[in-house]
Amino acid sequence: MTDLVVRGGKVVTAENLIAADIAVEDGRISAIGPDLPGAAREIDARGLTILPGLIDIHVHFNEPGRTEWEGAATGSRALAAGGATLFFDMPLNSSPCTIGPTEFDQKRSALENSSITDFALWGGIVPGNIDSLAALAERGVIGFKAFMADSGLPEFPRSDDLTLYEGMREAARLGLPVAVHAEDDDLIKSLTARLAAIGLTGIRDYLGSRPVLAEVAAIQRAALLAAETGAKLHIVHVSSGRGVAAAFEARARGVDIAIETCPHYLFFTEEDVERIGAAAKCAPPLRNAHERDRLWGAMLRGIVNVVGSDHSPAPPEMKRDANFFRIWGGIAGGQSTLSVLLSSGHHERKLPLTRIADLIAAFPARRFHLQHKGGIVVGNDADLTLVDLSASYTVEESSLFQRHKMSPYIGKTLQGLVRQTLLRGQPIFVDGKIVAMGTGKFFRPQKNT
Ligand SMILES: [Zn+2]
Repeated sequence: MTDLVVRGGKVVTAENLIAADIAVEDGRISAIGPDLPGAAREIDARGLTILPGLIDIHVHFNEPGRTEWEGAATGSRALAAGGATLFFDMPLNSSPCTIGPTEFDQKRSALENSSITDFALWGGIVPGNIDSLAALAERGVIGFKAFMADSGLPEFPRSDDLTLYEGMREAARLGLPVAVHAEDDDLIKSLTARLAAIGLTGIRDYLGSRPVLAEVAAIQRAALLAAETGAKLHIVHVSSGRGVAAAFEARARGVDIAIETCPHYLFFTEEDVERIGAAAKCAPPLRNAHERDRLWGAMLRGIVNVVGSDHSPAPPEMKRDANFFRIWGGIAGGQSTLSVLLSSGHHERKLPLTRIADLIAAFPARRFHLQHKGGIVVGNDADLTLVDLSASYTVEESSLFQRHKMSPYIGKTLQGLVRQTLLRGQPIFVDGKIVAMGTGKFFRPQKNT
């Protein structure tokens, strides 16, 4: 017996848009087609567009240990309200960081109790933990994250070149990707020290201390190490068109490199950082309009593979300081990812919905070997996002589910409103309210099936 039929929506598949019903049995999609027979439960999706549940491959929920910064209970609710059904949590800023099997176990059990969406976990590469990567792989990490610049957390030090080289070699042996925060540490440190020495601590000074050149240089070095070791490389949060171009050149030479960008690099510019301040501080920083336009060009040409939120909140007291360098970085916009893609991408720039489905779901599932995830296909989990493309809304503090209501999107009007999010056939978000009854499941890469 069919448990649920989602009736009359426009369904976004990998190839096209079709008017169809979706039937769900035991949490999986059992049929897609016109006029499917009735079921115990029905959802009227007439007038709505149905996308696969968003897979956010880059969040910092900081649980356990820094749950007061965010936590998976609040963070996963924010994601669900934005159409997401699965996230990959980064190895920091939880405490402890996910750099060994014990730390992994702690995080997995914490999130199994608190997240309302499904989740997977990144492990970390830091100097001295290469011997732990195999145990992390056995536990089921999705890949390994390393910092080429200072992470801001003393317990997650940056990887020097030898650590990166040996980490990539081990990750290649384990068949898992290495994600890098690609900014050149030396350049940033020198520029920062020079500015500090003459007392320059403003927003423009901060932006100037982390130039596009620092991103390009680090991407090139990471690509060289990936080529040398055969590692699958993942460049997180590429902020600029030139950064994408550097990664694309490496891809053309045969490096297996995935390019991720974030909604904020697609939506805001450095002028916005000056207007908004702390809520728009991140690293790499927001760029000028020219770089943002080149980033959109790469999105439209299919060169960028995936959009992750890099949702990275901190308590309000860490977001206040007269010295902009001392303000904790990180943009907390996880709830807005899909709306930004629909609004600035689909409506303003004709980014096809099928392309959006690939960026938010199909590519992540493919790249990270997630079974039964990533698209509206018979046999997959019924992870569905029902969106009203004609509805626009203004982001308000009161509509955000994250712990601290600080987001650069507050006051912005976006077109494309999430009406419902279904996780394995169960509604978890409906018309502005979280309705999840249970918790999400841990997912790991499945290679051989
Ligand atoms: Zn991040």
